[in-house]
Amino acid sequence: MIRRGHTFSRLTTLRRTRRDGRAYWFCECRCGRKKLIREDGLQSGAVLSCGCLHRERTSVVSSRPIPTGARFGRLTIVRRAASPTRPGHGQEYQARCVCGRIVRVESQILRAGRKRSCGCLKRDRWKRQLRHGHGRRLHRSPEYLAFHGAKAACLNPDAQRYPRTGALGIEFLFASFERFLAQVGMRPSPSHRLTRLDPDGDYEVGNVQWITRKGRR
Ligand SMILES: [Zn+2]
Ligand SMILES: [Zn+2]
Repeated sequence: MIRRGHTFSRLTTLRRTRRDGRAYWFCECRCGRKKLIREDGLQSGAVLSCGCLHRERTSVVSSRPIPTGARFGRLTIVRRAASPTRPGHGQEYQARCVCGRIVRVESQILRAGRKRSCGCLKRDRWKRQLRHGHGRRLHRSPEYLAFHGAKAACLNPDAQRYPRTGALGIEFLFASFERFLAQVGMRPSPSHRLTRLDPDGDYEVGNVQWITRKGRR
């Protein structure tokens, strides 16, 4: 059995999770990337890295200089760094990020796609998640639980609410959590519950809303 902290070639397991009935491990690769990997892929030895191993094996090691103006994500090459190359390291370049910051980056890091901004890309992503209140705690948020619960009630014959939902032909028509959230918004208070306005209607745009037991919206 795979446990946390086990190493499979370049990958170290961090946390187990399930998606669509399959077991996955959130892994950290030696290159620093984190990636969700199927458990059977780790067990069988089919997956050895986040993908960097394959890229390294197949990429032609290039010593050609990177031209000024070349773009790597948010970064644009401004000039070759003046300082001499350290042994074992690639040529350094100065690059301007779209946010205006100037950073120094090694050529092979750029070529490997390991740096695509000054760091603002990660920060923006994190901010976006925080803004929605669905950061690390995504899968425990009341909105996600309501989404998941409603989906299960429609699709999973083992779900408690299935006999009154899926078994009656009520369908879950939201393609993703994001679309669902965009329709219903955040739960206004813990006394609000996800409700279908037309009890015989499906879970779909226009028919779901947060409502209190007393019927307040
Ligand atoms: Zn990697
Ligand atoms: Zn930036």
